[in-house]
Amino acid sequence: MEYYYIKTNRTFTFIRKYAWFITLLVAIGGLWEPKLGLLVLFIMAGLTITSFFTGRYWCGNFCPHGSLFDRLYLPISRNRKIPEFLKSKAFILGFFIFFMFNFSRKLLKAFRFWGTYDFLDRLGYVFVTTYLMVVIAGGILSIVSNSRTWCQFCPMGTIQKLSYKLGKLLRVNKKTDKKITIASKELCHSCGKCARVCPFQLTPYLEFSDNNQFDNINCIRCATCVENCPANILSLATEEEALKLRELTDISGYENRQRIKAKITDIKELAKDIKEFTFTFMEPETVDYKAGQFILVKIQDNPKAFRAYSISSYNEDSKKLKVIIKKVERGYGTNIIFNEFKIGDVVDLEGPMGNELVPDKAAERILFLANGIGITPFIGLTKDVLLNYPNVKEVILLNGQRYEDELIYDEYFKTLERLYTKFKYIPVLSRDKASSLRKGYVTDVLKEIDVTGSHVYMCGSKNMILDSYHILLNKGIEKERISYESEEKVAV
Ligand SMILES: Cc1cc2nc3c(=O)[nH]c(=O)nc-3n(C[C@H](O)[C@H](O)[C@H](O)COP(=O)(O)OP(=O)(O)OC[C@H]3O[C@@H](n4cnc5c(N)ncnc54)[C@H](O)[C@@H]3O)c2cc1C
Ligand code: SF4
Ligand code: SF4
Repeated sequence: MEYYYIKTNRTFTFIRKYAWFITLLVAIGGLWEPKLGLLVLFIMAGLTITSFFTGRYWCGNFCPHGSLFDRLYLPISRNRKIPEFLKSKAFILGFFIFFMFNFSRKLLKAFRFWGTYDFLDRLGYVFVTTYLMVVIAGGILSIVSNSRTWCQFCPMGTIQKLSYKLGKLLRVNKKTDKKITIASKELCHSCGKCARVCPFQLTPYLEFSDNNQFDNINCIRCATCVENCPANILSLATEEEALKLRELTDISGYENRQRIKAKITDIKELAKDIKEFTFTFMEPETVDYKAGQFILVKIQDNPKAFRAYSISSYNEDSKKLKVIIKKVERGYGTNIIFNEFKIGDVVDLEGPMGNELVPDKAAERILFLANGIGITPFIGLTKDVLLNYPNVKEVILLNGQRYEDELIYDEYFKTLERLYTKFKYIPVLSRDKASSLRKGYVTDVLKEIDVTGSHVYMCGSKNMILDSYHILLNKGIEKERISYESEEKVAV
């Protein structure tokens, strides 16, 4: 499971970024000024009340300790799998009883000073020491295990779960209970990224209910999965909103998704760390796919996980497809694929999926923008539009890479350019000083060329897509004519 869990930003709001300051103020400042501990009373009231309506939302969005774990401890955490026994009901209950017993004992001692000058200091000090204990114990667990290990059995989390259950029982939180919601299960890549970035190591993608919601009571509704889902299909929503969303979500391009067994019949090395895999379909023996779609390749069973790859082949007989994969340094899935996949292996695929890069049949001018490994869908697509799109009068492909030897299928594109006068192929290199080809970025060329009336399809890095999107809007291209696909979540 090396490289499985991903460290990613979880502090999207001001409170989540800086609430850790309160923890240190109480836990350390309280040693000098014990009354600071009384702040914790407000925190306890806040978390008990909010959880009645919103489950563990507090833990993911307001908790000062959560902020400390996510902001200060995560960067130095080993970020390993949280031991299962720390999540077990028996441990959580046992720890809750132990903690409450100790806490009540300390409170009773402080109440012996009721009515004296010292009382507030004594009471505050109980909270100060408790806060300090969590900073130290939670901190050690953060570093050696995972930054949110403490939260698995935190007594305040247990109180929140009880309060939430009461709210549910009384049916008063239906309108406030926002859960992680998937727009449509058909659109999910089953990549498991939501699980890999989840501070609690939950697996939403494997557990969505019939209402498309993630009902796990431990979810802290921190939205880290929402921010990282490459398919951009997650949100926090009430049950009513979830049902509406499901009705409104367009799944065209995904309706023919099917399970496929395929044999690897060829593996070619195209460049350093870039390989082309040919999959020949077995069950079913033929699969109808369009250029511009992508396919999911299963990388493991437990937990079930796939990786999405653009189909690079032009569909000649529906009997096979090709994908081109770039090995990612410390990449979990590509390391499995590059180290374990061999010719003759039978693998599970799912798809075909997607219509973002499938061109509009009415298009007359088509502009393809690619960078990095984002070039792969355009291999099949250029051939497809040149052969099968009778309205097309011009096709331009801008291909941005760093070095000349990264220009895969370069000869193929040059041959198409020679064969079809309406096709223009423009490679652009960002780092190769020795090459005689055009230097710079795709966006540099985009600024110079006439794109009036074009339908534009982009695939590649988030930055290239965002920058190009704005250039295109400035050039007068309507939003409806711009489509894109990226392995990263892109919100324009
Ligand atoms: C629709 C679609 C089409 C695609 N088409 C192609 C294609 O044709 N060819 C292709 O090669 N790829 C394609 N991809 C990308 C592909 O799906 C995978 O994302 C890619 O192969 C990397 O997978 P991985 O598991 O090796 O990397 P991951 O392990 O998922 O890593 C992904 C990124 O996260 C970073 N990361 C990983 N672990 C950590 C960590 N612990 N801490 C910090 N950062 C971390 C990595 O550096 C990397 O940048 C496509 C993606 C989509 C959504
Ligand atoms: S992150 Fe991946 S597995 Fe999770 S919901 Fe999004 S597409 Fe599906
Ligand atoms: S499932 Fe999503 S919202 Fe819930 S805890 Fe995990 S990352 Fe946060």
